[in-house]
Amino acid sequence: MLSSFGGLVGDYPEQVMVAQVPYGSCPMCEIPKGAPMRHSTCRALDNPRDQHVYSELLDETNINVLHTLHVHPIRNQFWQFPLCNVYHLWQPDEWHQLLLGLVKDLLHWLLKYLKGRNVKDQFDNQFTSVEQYPGLQRFSKPFDSMKSSSWQGNEIRGMIRTLSVNCAPILDCCKDDGKTAAETASDEMVIGAVQALSGFSLLVSQQNHYDLSLTALDNALKRFNKKKGTFRDQKMSKSAKAKVDEQLTTESHQLREQKIHKIGAAMEVQVYGAAKVTTSKRRKFQVRLNRVRQAATKWSEADQQRAIERLEREIHQMTPVKCKLFDKLFQHHERQLLQEVGTKATGPRSIFAKELVQIKTAAEEEVYGAVNMTADKSVEFQVRLSDAETEATTWSLADIDRIVSQLEREMYGITSNEQMRFKQELSIHLIEFEAWWQAIGIQELRKTIEQRVIHFGYPKMHLLSHISESIR
Ligand SMILES: [Zn+2]
Repeated sequence: MLSSFGGLVGDYPEQVMVAQVPYGSCPMCEIPKGAPMRHSTCRALDNPRDQHVYSELLDETNINVLHTLHVHPIRNQFWQFPLCNVYHLWQPDEWHQLLLGLVKDLLHWLLKYLKGRNVKDQFDNQFTSVEQYPGLQRFSKPFDSMKSSSWQGNEIRGMIRTLSVNCAPILDCCKDDGKTAAETASDEMVIGAVQALSGFSLLVSQQNHYDLSLTALDNALKRFNKKKGTFRDQKMSKSAKAKVDEQLTTESHQLREQKIHKIGAAMEVQVYGAAKVTTSKRRKFQVRLNRVRQAATKWSEADQQRAIERLEREIHQMTPVKCKLFDKLFQHHERQLLQEVGTKATGPRSIFAKELVQIKTAAEEEVYGAVNMTADKSVEFQVRLSDAETEATTWSLADIDRIVSQLEREMYGITSNEQMRFKQELSIHLIEFEAWWQAIGIQELRKTIEQRVIHFGYPKMHLLSHISESIR
């Protein structure tokens, strides 16, 4: 049985099939699917897959746990061989994952980058004029003059050997040739990424390994992971950029509110003392405040429902006819999805729930039109709804301030002098926060979102980290 599989060594789809794990997950370890798989550290903390554990979970019909660990809840035929570890049946291999996988990708990213920098001709020239030397391969045509699939592993191995040397004179950072600081910085990152992956590839192909070479291998991978982000700009399509902008609008609003709230809470502890503003006291305070507020408002549930309907019509262009159409469409898709997943988990964190959200969004966009359902519009909806609620109360801004202050003094046992000091300290911190937010915070958030939206092929990037481990 084993020998018949021996010939298939390599490709990811087959690994996934034999390991019986969902496409997109790691056949060797239990790292969560998706974004974490392009993590920049060398792996070691992700649990290796264990057939004994899975077998027990299946016996106890712990289907949910198996789903969470990204294992299909069916008995794997390989589990019955005690000396065979199906999750290590195939060692990650240099040929498919590295040469025909990432190195090829790197060449594509690099060419796009060089094109953007107007130096691709120079590179093609270097690429096709490698000196004759034993062990060095020569290419008569530029890399992108042929279909990517026509380059084979051996040729790619030849390319990676000379890639750093071919790039260095073009992206040389010491040369003063009128580059801007940003160009110099990105050139430096690009050549760093090229050198790191070249180093990694050369080290992997060595016959023998020892501690020193394995450490060098890990370091090369770490360097590559650190520098590869520089190609993100090259990979960013118009639609991806729009997606980043949209997520930034929603998330920056939420994150800002959260951070401001945290600063306020920290200042309270600092000025009033932790004993006076405990979590339970804060909760009681909120309950009391809501009760007082409700007593002062003319805003009933029916009012809220009316306001929601009005705003849905105005902002999202939802008419009663369209709403009915949406209900029908969504219910139809929901039934279909339920039939597909059958007895699988349907809890709030299940794949089913995630897919349902996607289906809902798609149905909304289909019925109401995508332009009416953007993140901007949902923020506008929330803001206008809360404005409408505020308008309906009989309190003025001064009233709110007075009532909140009084309630605070009563419930936290603090003086009005302390409250004054709190306000002063808070306003200083908020000014500092605002400056930080504009200069750093929002850029950091954009970077995080970009990393999430524009990725580098999760499983491929992750499997690379198993290569060094498999040599050990
Ligand atoms: Zn893994």
